[in-house]
Amino acid sequence: MSELLNTPISVTCPRCGEKVEATLGDVQGEHRVTCPNGHAIKLKPKNDSLKKVEKALEGLERAVGEGHVHFKVNVTQRERE
Ligand SMILES: [Zn+2]
Repeated sequence: MSELLNTPISVTCPRCGEKVEATLGDVQGEHRVTCPNGHAIKLKPKNDSLKKVEKALEGLERAVGEGHVHFKVNVTQRERE
């Protein structure tokens, strides 16, 4: 479980839209990351998205033995794709 918190995710900076690398552990711990343009982003999951993370982690635990897993969670107020 703790190793799964190192799973990399992609976060979109709410100010400039740059992609920022973070981990699930950063999201769950509400850590700060810095985007390539220097904006500090506090990772604060929405209530439902934290539940999705937990569900995804459960799924990951089962999937880990099967190979590489990609998934993405919404952690910012605004999504800019
Ligand atoms: Zn930014």
